[in-house]
Amino acid sequence: MGAAAYVHIPFCQRKCLYCDFNSYPGMEELFLPYAEALKQEVRAAARSFNTEIATVFFGGGTPTLLPPKLISSVLEEIRACFKILPNAEITTEANPGTVTAGSLAHLHGAGFNRISLGVQSLFDNELKRLGRIHTPKEAIRAFKDARSAGFTNINVDLMYGIPEETMDSWRSTLVRVLELEPEHISLYSLSVEEGTPFFQMYNSGELELPGSEAEADMYEEAARILTGAGFIHYEISNFARPGFFCRHNITYWKNQPYFGFGAGAASFLGGVRRTNASSVQEYIRRMGAGESPVVSEEALEGRMAMGETIFLGLRMLCGVDEQEFQSRYGTSLRKVFGPEIDGLKRRGLLEEPDGALRLTHKGLLLANEAFCQFLG
Ligand code: SF4
Repeated sequence: MGAAAYVHIPFCQRKCLYCDFNSYPGMEELFLPYAEALKQEVRAAARSFNTEIATVFFGGGTPTLLPPKLISSVLEEIRACFKILPNAEITTEANPGTVTAGSLAHLHGAGFNRISLGVQSLFDNELKRLGRIHTPKEAIRAFKDARSAGFTNINVDLMYGIPEETMDSWRSTLVRVLELEPEHISLYSLSVEEGTPFFQMYNSGELELPGSEAEADMYEEAARILTGAGFIHYEISNFARPGFFCRHNITYWKNQPYFGFGAGAASFLGGVRRTNASSVQEYIRRMGAGESPVVSEEALEGRMAMGETIFLGLRMLCGVDEQEFQSRYGTSLRKVFGPEIDGLKRRGLLEEPDGALRLTHKGLLLANEAFCQFLG
């Protein structure tokens, strides 16, 4: 089994009003030096960790804001430095406002075999409220272009709890997305993060949101519609057709090793989590000067490492396999977290069927409360 490789592209055409990701508009002059810095980091990592790669994921930011040749040149560098397994899953995120039939064909030809489209909603007013750069029409066109370019594994990202969204508009978005026949759908609830325009608007009473109860209803309704259409609900926020679970993200949820290349990216190798400088300029400077991009490093050991494996694993609906845990850590789940598990079971948030520990239906809705018990 190979490792996962994440490549962070920290550029966006415009900042969405809710976004606190490490991404910046107006940095076109840094595209080229940034790609060079990435390649340098890939080469350095390959000298330190000689591993096979099973999944590659270009995320951001907006990877498709880079000229397609520049994106594919970074993938080529990974291919030149590591052995990418023949059946590897190679994904790029794409903003529908930044792709064309030609760019998608180039990416597919370069070896990307999965695309994740940030659609969010198929209502113009909702996309405008979010500050997205694309329209519903462009999202549908991007999906169809990706299909025509040869992508047989397409994810659609959707968001719920958006200003002006109603249960009817949410249902309608889901139904119209299903008509496109994607292989995978991810659902995220809008969260208002500090430092974003939405945060200010929310605090000054200018942002009206559907509210947490409506959000919970939207989540349940989506799960009902998507599973009814044949999708498997395999992770809290993720649904897929059989055989199309996202293997890259499963690496994270199983707490397995991954590389993280780029500004602010994190890696987890040999039990150590390392995080790169988040500033794009500082990242480029460090790579250019032959310095390490890493600004923080943390060895995950003992109870802390086991706790992470549990709370990440509980995100998946199959839960944490008790036997797998025993073989990995040489001790049982119960020995380390017996009281926490019993407490959560009493509250109806956890269950232990067939040698696995997993969230109940109620636990899925209150997942963060369950996760807290395994941290610290
Ligand atoms: S496109 Fe994505 S990364 Fe870029 S600003 Fe919008 S939400 Fe953030």
